[in-house]
Amino acid sequence: MAERVEVILDTKKCQGYGLCLGSDDVFEMEPEGNVARLKMRFVDISRLDEMEDAARDCPANAISCRVVQD
Ligand code: SF4
Repeated sequence: MAERVEVILDTKKCQGYGLCLGSDDVFEMEPEGNVARLKMRFVDISRLDEMEDAARDCPANAISCRVVQD
């Protein structure tokens, strides 16, 4: 079974700090507001560390991730 990482973004918590934009193929800012949004919900398992870092580094604790089975 293949594993992927599901990225979860709580837009109610996001304060628009933009730190997550280091992974700019996954996160982007809403054009009309200071809130991030997901460009993709699932990323390759090889990027688990990167997504865990994004979750840990988000000042608003708006990002989480989990490993899911395909
Ligand atoms: S790092 Fe967190 S608070 Fe900042 S834009 Fe991304 S999700 Fe929002």
